[in-house]
Amino acid sequence: MKDLRHELEQRKAQQLYRQRRIGDSPQGPEMRIDGETVLSFCSNDYLGLANHPEVVRALQDGAQRWGVGSGAAHLVNGHSAAHHALEEELAEFVGYPRALLFSTGYMANLGAIGALLGHGDRVYEDRYNHASLLDAARYSGARLLRYTHGDSEDLRQRLDSQGDGERLIATDGVFSMDGDIAPLPELAAIARQTQSWLLVDDAHGFGVLGAQGRGSVEHFGLNAADIPILMGTLGKAFGTFGAFVVGSEALIETLIQQARTYIYTTATPPALAEATRASLRLVRQESWRREKLQTLIARFRSGAAQLGLRLMDSATPIQPLLIGATDMSVQLSEYLRARGILVPAMRPPTVPEGTARLRITFSAAHEEAHIDRLLDALEAVQ
Ligand SMILES: *Cc1c(COP(=O)(O)O)cnc(C)c1O
Repeated sequence: MKDLRHELEQRKAQQLYRQRRIGDSPQGPEMRIDGETVLSFCSNDYLGLANHPEVVRALQDGAQRWGVGSGAAHLVNGHSAAHHALEEELAEFVGYPRALLFSTGYMANLGAIGALLGHGDRVYEDRYNHASLLDAARYSGARLLRYTHGDSEDLRQRLDSQGDGERLIATDGVFSMDGDIAPLPELAAIARQTQSWLLVDDAHGFGVLGAQGRGSVEHFGLNAADIPILMGTLGKAFGTFGAFVVGSEALIETLIQQARTYIYTTATPPALAEATRASLRLVRQESWRREKLQTLIARFRSGAAQLGLRLMDSATPIQPLLIGATDMSVQLSEYLRARGILVPAMRPPTVPEGTARLRITFSAAHEEAHIDRLLDALEAVQ
């Protein structure tokens, strides 16, 4: 048996030890964490809907109407009219024939890739894909091939030299640690030419990108014919919890029959589906949140550029500052924390060796004054 204590000590020595902070307030720019009030730039609650009164009320009313637990898996008797209505509304919103809810984005990726591929098949993934997509490839039993980040030419070359079996290209729509957007039009063309599946994980694009918030697909003017499998999560911009896959009738029906992470798990609470329906209404009807985000992003980028900070090439609410050394990024994060500002350091293995960074994220609930406070604190670091 291995010595767990020793391994944990080693982790600490390498600055890789992670600790949870204890929050005592809802999500928002200002939060109570570990007994202090902090200004937070680390949430994925991009539209500020996690604590929106209409979403909260929908959850409460949902609990009155449905109780709390769903009681069973979707294929037993856990699939309610609330889940069903949400699926129909999501499909219509994104412009796809059909949607299927999953309990989490992690499970959606495992379920979709696991249902379509197996031994003898191949999955092609961007090197910076989210861990759940990498795990999904391993779980499926297919062979995993990783191509250079954002490099569709590298992907094309790898696809050219391959033989039989199903092929699936999987990419984040918006990369979670870098904030940049995948070259989806090129990937869609390659997928079509090589008769490969294309799965886009739009966890960070959905609700945020596109005038109507339909995500990366809308950003590029693509549709279901270009991207046959689209995954979106509900715990980020939608401010609730869960995930969904949209695709053709046949794809969704296949997932219902074969996706093990769909079949062998309890359906999420119906009240949660009601809450997500409320946030979907806000996402659709109130585009001001997306516009405000763009204003905040522009203010931050111009301020950071004036300070000479190393910004990454991102037009999304994920605005990482590249630091490089792991210990330096941890020290900076602690320095900001001592000034009441919460920005996490992202370090290997979450990001490649030598590219530790501060992962700053913005929400439509931030105000310009919050951005200025962050810039003031960063100026002092220079
Ligand atoms: C957060 C995230 C997931 C996982 O979604 P959960 O619903 O939190 O399990 C999947 N893919 C990407 C790119 C993510 O950022």
